[in-house]
Amino acid sequence: TGSTKEKVLNSIETNNVKFIRLQFTDIQGVVKDVEIPVTQIQKALDVGISFDGSSIEGFVRIDESDMILKPDPDSFAILPWNEKDVVARMICDVYMPDGQPFWGDPRHVLKTMINKAKDMGYEFNVGPELEFFLFEKDNGSATTRPHDFGRYFEFAPADLTEDIRREIVLTLTSLNFDIEASHHEVAFGQHEIDFKYSDALTTADNVMTFKYVTRTIAKMNGLHATFMPKPIFGENGSGMHVNLSLEKDGQNAFYDPDSDMDISDTTKYFIGGLLKHIRPITAITNPIVNSYKRLVPGYEAPVYIAWSGTNRSSLIRIPAARGKSTRVELRSPDPSCNPYLAFAAILAAGLEGINEKVDPGEMVDINIFDLNECERREQCIDILPATLQESSMYLADSDLMKEALGEHVINNILRLAKAEWDLYSMQVHEWEIKRYLNVI
Ligand code: ADP
Ligand code: GLU
Ligand code: MG
Ligand code: MG
Repeated sequence: TGSTKEKVLNSIETNNVKFIRLQFTDIQGVVKDVEIPVTQIQKALDVGISFDGSSIEGFVRIDESDMILKPDPDSFAILPWNEKDVVARMICDVYMPDGQPFWGDPRHVLKTMINKAKDMGYEFNVGPELEFFLFEKDNGSATTRPHDFGRYFEFAPADLTEDIRREIVLTLTSLNFDIEASHHEVAFGQHEIDFKYSDALTTADNVMTFKYVTRTIAKMNGLHATFMPKPIFGENGSGMHVNLSLEKDGQNAFYDPDSDMDISDTTKYFIGGLLKHIRPITAITNPIVNSYKRLVPGYEAPVYIAWSGTNRSSLIRIPAARGKSTRVELRSPDPSCNPYLAFAAILAAGLEGINEKVDPGEMVDINIFDLNECERREQCIDILPATLQESSMYLADSDLMKEALGEHVINNILRLAKAEWDLYSMQVHEWEIKRYLNVI
């Protein structure tokens, strides 16, 4: 709107901003950015800035490459770490040369799904829990040597990173994040910083900013931050649990004090939809070969398709909080996912669950990892896809995902996943050499 544009222009003047980074996200969840000098801002706000979309992974073919970036004035923020010249960033929407929103823009995909929820009277809220590792560098290159030897909830001197974590928190705070908690995670060098939930679009933007800030602050401290889901064999991986809720008429639609467990039928159907479509969704929420090294027993990551009360071995759990904080926690996503596509896929499944009153089945309130395979089968508990190849097969067969994310996105995701899987399958791993070289 005009008034937010005015605010941007005022802030640029008051803070003497010299450059603006225009950011957007490609299909694989990687931030792209073009920097413009402040002289271009009026043009950027009025008509947008054109760029060559053919060089961006999963965007367009060569013959239709003139794309347009239109910065969202609400996302204007000054990057706090540039001391010499003041630099701001804005998150952009991507348009086709003919002025239509571009279907390959993950932000547009999420906005479209959010509008479908609005048509049903719902606002979708998401609160993510991002985990990451801080590793040492060796001559400028990243290693997998953890920077500290702290464990869960430990603090200095084991947790050397306390100061860096605080610096990340302070930087995020200056970028309008509302930080709820930060702590050392289970593995050496592993951390988690939680920020307050928001509507899905704001949260997806925040996830991108979070990664960008964390990497930058780590780098400024001579370290390497990674959101790779499973960097070290035998240690916990990094998840991005997502806390989900729907709001209707300003009320939490998942809360119902007159129902069993104080959760509404809407919640149960939403969970039913998630469970029904979780296999194709996994290709979106766990999009790289390495994602599946995390989804194995023994490391607090989910493996089985089930929901429970507060049991943390489950794929879906309902944290104990009620009232405004009533929510469903989905524990399979990892931070390598594209948050826009992940939230769109999750919302599509949840809404279908509500529309079709999908029964989530019985709650499983035991530790599923204690069951043997026979007992698991008796209770009809299925397993999440075990590889990128398997989840891609489910994605290719999913009409719901095609409808939710669009053919363009789905085809590109499948193409990229296949190329990645083929390349991976051909490798001869260190493990194979150790295992076979001497005995075969
Ligand atoms: P855990 O119990 O898994 O450790 P955390 O306390 O680390 O969970 O994180 C809880 C997350 O849930 C935070 O991001 C918080 O803002 C978010 N959250 C709280 N209430 C809601 C809600 N109604 N809808 C969505 N997310 C919520
Ligand atoms: N790191 C675990 C995972 O991969 C989660 C640990 C936790 O419950 O916070 O999902
Ligand atoms: Mg955690
Ligand atoms: Mg959690």
